[in-house]
Amino acid sequence: MCRRPASPTSSDNVSGDTTEICIQIITSGGRTIPVHANILASASTVLKSIIDKPRKHPSSAITVSISGVPCDAVVVFVRFLYSSKCSEEDMEKYGFHLLALSHVYLIPKLKSQCTKALIERLTIENVIDVLQLARLCDAPDLYLKCMKLVSNKFKSVEETEGWKFLQNNDPFFELEILQFIDETESRRKMSRRQRRAQRLYIELGEAMDCLEHICTEGCISVGPNDTPRKNRVPCNKFSTCQGLQLSLQHFANCKNRMNQGCVRCKRMWQLFKLHSSICELPESACKVPLCKRFKIRGGDEMKNKKEEVRWGLLVKKVVVARATSSLLLQKKKEVEKEAIPAACGGYNYDHNHGYVIRNLVC
Ligand SMILES: [Zn+2]
Ligand SMILES: [Zn+2]
Ligand SMILES: [Zn+2]
Repeated sequence: MCRRPASPTSSDNVSGDTTEICIQIITSGGRTIPVHANILASASTVLKSIIDKPRKHPSSAITVSISGVPCDAVVVFVRFLYSSKCSEEDMEKYGFHLLALSHVYLIPKLKSQCTKALIERLTIENVIDVLQLARLCDAPDLYLKCMKLVSNKFKSVEETEGWKFLQNNDPFFELEILQFIDETESRRKMSRRQRRAQRLYIELGEAMDCLEHICTEGCISVGPNDTPRKNRVPCNKFSTCQGLQLSLQHFANCKNRMNQGCVRCKRMWQLFKLHSSICELPESACKVPLCKRFKIRGGDEMKNKKEEVRWGLLVKKVVVARATSSLLLQKKKEVEKEAIPAACGGYNYDHNHGYVIRNLVC
């Protein structure tokens, strides 16, 4: 049965209720706060186990010592146990301590509020202290936010007292932070590289479409002899196509082509080779120059196995990028078809797509 403590300090009774008080919380400043056992026990399993612990003298008053944080932070903590609320002002003053208390006494709701409040109040100056606390209190969201801030503003964080203290006192944690920064930078570089590579594969896929189109249907200035020139109109990828037509004309007339002294011809040669690697037409049916030649010779011209593997990988990537682009285009057309009434009809082809035939890496 709950019984009133011998001498509760009514001014510290955060509940405002003087009945059923049977526990004294003792703070680090020696202050006592009378509280209800049932409230504490229902709010925290840790406090419940302290309350339920068998005592030498069952009639003696139960006391719970909460030290290591300011007395007022404990008052705010107890108020939270009663009301499940915490003012912004209290959070501003004691968010740091409340997070520690919420972790120690297993109060998830308070922990999540503190995490949110501390994330909102993160600064270059306090980030290392908050980071250490987040690590100690097992607050992964807060930990990650802190790490990202340290990683993004490391030059400024390095100048703070918090960082200097950490360097002198916790070299393992310093190493953990430096490793995180290093991995983040590697990931950024990797994704930049991947995006660049993906762009290249898409452009090469488009170049393959244009090469086939020029050599079979013909475009403005280049085409097969059996296609009447007067019927040739700009295609829907003309900016790409035009660059390729100029390169084809150059390739046909270049004096330095044979001794491999011309970079532009080398690129064109590689585009022919790439076409041949992805061409599924029978040799006799394909009109793209050198397609048959590359098919017969296969990988003969590769300097070594490594080069052959790299080329194979490039071919695969271009095939996938080409298929993806074609699917996306099909989807876009379907969406446009649904959006534009048939009477207004037709598609506006993008003639301004900027395209540069890039150097193949092989
Ligand atoms: Zn064209
Ligand atoms: Zn040339
Ligand atoms: Zn072919």
